This record gives sequence, C-alpha cells and structure tokens, in this order.
Amino acid sequence: MKIICIGVNYRSHALEMGRPIPAEPVVFMKPDSAILKNNKPFFLPGFSENIHYECEVVLKIGKLGKGIEAKYAHRYIDELTLGIDITARDIQQRLGKAGHPWTIAKCFDGSAPLGKFVPLKTIKDINNLDFTLDINGKTVQHGNTSDLIFNIGEIIEFVSKFFTLKTGDLIFTGTPSGVGPLHKEDHLVASLEGKPLLDFMVK
Ligand code: MG
Repeated sequence: MKIICIGVNYRSHALEMGRPIPAEPVVFMKPDSAILKNNKPFFLPGFSENIHYECEVVLKIGKLGKGIEAKYAHRYIDELTLGIDITARDIQQRLGKAGHPWTIAKCFDGSAPLGKFVPLKTIKDINNLDFTLDINGKTVQHGNTSDLIFNIGEIIEFVSKFFTLKTGDLIFTGTPSGVGPLHKEDHLVASLEGKPLLDFMVK
C-alpha cells in the first residue's frame, strides 16, 4: 500500500508557513514503515531538533481506481480517520532551501500516526468535517474540510491521474494552521466532530 500526502492544502497553514497558495495539489508519499497504529507512543528521533505535528483528515481507499472524476471520488473512499503528518521541520527547511526533495524530513519511521478508522457511510458531509488536535489538554489545531484549498474530490481526481489507487491506500489531505513542535511527554488527542480517534504520547 501507499500513503499519498497533500501539502499546503489550507490557506491558514500556507500563510503561517509563508508559502504561496498552490495552483495544483502538492503531492508527496510516505512509505508503509511510517505508520504508527493502536495509539502507540511516538519516539522523538535523534536526527532532528524540531519535530512538528500536522493533524490531518486521512482517507482510506476501498476500491481500485485510476483516472477517477471528482464527482465519483466518494465511491472510492471506504473509511476515514485523523492522522499526524509528523515533520522534521529543520530538515525540511534545509532541504527546501537547497531545492531538494523533503523525503527524509517527512517519511521516516513513525511519521504517520493513524487513529481509529470510521466508515464513510457514518459521515454526514465529508466536505464539512470538523477536527481538532489537543496537546496536553489544550486545542492547538482546529480545522474543517470545507476550508481545503483542493477538496477531497479534487484530490482524488488529481492523484488518480498519476497513480492507480488500490484498496488500503491512504491519503493525508493536508493540515490547517497551528502546527508546532513536539516535546517529550506531550499527550496528543485528535478528534473528529468532537469524537477522539487518536490518542498517543510522545516519548
Ligand atoms: Mg502535512
């Protein structure tokens, strides 16, 4: 399986990062070794001094598809959850300045904690989904999928032009503003429509 990620997909996050609003989706991928499941702790790696959280809605693909039109995208989504696109911001900035790919900054082991999946059929409106990330009891990120620059249909249409989507593939849809550093003993809780789906510690 593959993990497709969309970068800079909320205006508020583009602004806080000082990045322009992209004209087309910014796409990268994480390997399956990035996945962290069952609320297991995330261990801060020794290679970075500035590990950031980015809370995102994550889609799970339920059916093989290629060249999918946006209006049919929902047929290819099986379940969704919240995940954290963990980023070594110092490495990302160093690589970005040099014009190099940011792979090692975003795709290392454990860089994709995933919450409990909920079936798409239990979701009222995928384009109006509220989500929050709390750290140590304080809300640090609050997003809604209605604020996506490229909505879920547009994301699936775009990425399926280039990649065949397979059952079990994941798509991280982008993070709203409020990203920041993780510290040892931080307690993260990500909630969708007020319901906690992901709850883990930083070690
Ligand atoms: Mg991200």
